[in-house]
Amino acid sequence: MPAETQAQVKPHLGNTSHLLQQAKAQMQAEEFEKANYYFRQIIESGVPIPTEMPYFFAKTLFELKQYDNSSKFLKKYLEINGEGAQQYKMAKTLEAQLESPLEAIKNCSLCNEHGYQYQTCSNCKGEKKIESSCSLCKGKGIIGCSHCVGTGLITKKNIFNITEYFECRNCNGKGRLICPECKGSLVETRPCQSCLGTGKIPTDILCKHQP
Ligand SMILES: [Zn+2]
Ligand SMILES: [Zn+2]
Ligand SMILES: [Zn+2]
Ligand SMILES: [Zn+2]
Repeated sequence: MPAETQAQVKPHLGNTSHLLQQAKAQMQAEEFEKANYYFRQIIESGVPIPTEMPYFFAKTLFELKQYDNSSKFLKKYLEINGEGAQQYKMAKTLEAQLESPLEAIKNCSLCNEHGYQYQTCSNCKGEKKIESSCSLCKGKGIIGCSHCVGTGLITKKNIFNITEYFECRNCNGKGRLICPECKGSLVETRPCQSCLGTGKIPTDILCKHQP
């Protein structure tokens, strides 16, 4: 059994330290999924987490290959406890163990920063954008000129109170304008909302960093 999981079981059992004990027991049994479950309960309980907990959680996440998450909790642990940390040596070992998997994630284009594999966005088929019929011109490519209300003419009263007609300068008297949204292409192109314009969506599958 790994030495670092044995120590520091506090005799006074609040609910949190009880959960921590259970988590550590699962770690000893190498049941890291179950350990993860108890750690999550501690976090969700909202009470201040035991100071040694982030190390054990980081270790569990490492075993579950959630390297990015593991690294976050390990950093937190070292930040909170510094060199006086009870598991300082083990934490430094884990830090070194994390280096290469974190590097692999960073250099891999098949997965996101957490190491989860991407799949092609099904909404845009990986195109990153969605084309649809232009909503401004309803797919006609032109819109009525709002300046002359589509007549091509502007009216003005002269000093004799007689209405005079002028050609609308906004549309050169045509009464219509090329749609400013689609520039007459009839199609409106927007970034895909499902993948935020990236063309890919992370799955919950851990990446092996090879095609
Ligand atoms: Zn998409
Ligand atoms: Zn006009
Ligand atoms: Zn349009
Ligand atoms: Zn990868």
